[in-house]
Amino acid sequence: MSLIVVGSMAFDAIETPFGKSDKIVGGAATYIAWSASNFTRPVKQISVVGGDFPREEMKILEARGVSMEGVQVKENEKSFFWSGRYHLDMNTRDTLETQLNVLGNFKPVVPDSYQDCEFLMLGNLLPSVQLSVISQLKNKPKLVILDTMNFWMDTAMADLEKVLKKIDVLLVNDAEARQLSSHYSLVSAAKAIMEMGPKYLIIKKGEHGALLFNEDKVFFAPALPLEVVFDPTGAGDTFAGGFIGHIAKTKDISFENMKSAIIVGSAMASFCVEKFGTTRLRELKREDIDNRIHAFKELTKFDIELG
Ligand code: AMP
Repeated sequence: MSLIVVGSMAFDAIETPFGKSDKIVGGAATYIAWSASNFTRPVKQISVVGGDFPREEMKILEARGVSMEGVQVKENEKSFFWSGRYHLDMNTRDTLETQLNVLGNFKPVVPDSYQDCEFLMLGNLLPSVQLSVISQLKNKPKLVILDTMNFWMDTAMADLEKVLKKIDVLLVNDAEARQLSSHYSLVSAAKAIMEMGPKYLIIKKGEHGALLFNEDKVFFAPALPLEVVFDPTGAGDTFAGGFIGHIAKTKDISFENMKSAIIVGSAMASFCVEKFGTTRLRELKREDIDNRIHAFKELTKFDIELG
């Protein structure tokens, strides 16, 4: 039984008020795999890269228990490329460039060895590709989670609406929730989005934490106040990796366990932002993760006497 992760594996170029990166390895599925493999293995990856993508990178992920059987390598094409610039608040950013390259005509093939999938994490990528992976699975997974972004709402809304009907949990940020629902209030947005298909909705609010909605229930997890926020790229994907990693490890899809999974996701995301790209995720030890989850518990723990 296993976890499948679908998403972009890419090159990114990032500008923040504190610095600028060259073309570095990124992509939604890259961050998710780095994060989730701390909690569950194997992670069965589905993506596509060009001949320019470093083989070394794939080998390092394989050594961490991330299967590359479902990752296509198009030798004569270029990998997906994204560049973005963060505003001073480090919470909002502008996309400067999106070059789909290999992603543009990606036809994912789910290998037979992936058919034991119990948990499916559909990371950010074309909604038609996300749909294709769902329809190739012979058995319905226990939980299907989907991440998407404004780019796909602008360019592929009809496919996005189709895939929303087939998933259990949707992960978006606050601006995306507002765009998708046309509601400003996040509570109204959540109600409208859950009517579009997903039973659970997670709204990420960057440094202001994350909300989990299901029916009339709401849970809020803060983000850890950090002294250094260097590069928020991939924080959402790292959050998703921690969330699904915890669910796959515990095999418990109750609302109560999703609350814990959100804390794990938030803890992982708090590491991601401390250095450029995946640098910080590569350094992590089990003890670092445990200490940070403990810091989250302390942050929100209080006693109150009601008179
Ligand atoms: P996040 O900061 O968590 O929203 O994710 C940033 C990552 O998403 C970067 O590493 C990009 O390569 C990747 N990304 C950006 N735009 C897209 C897109 N339209 N489709 C797939 N992946 C994308």
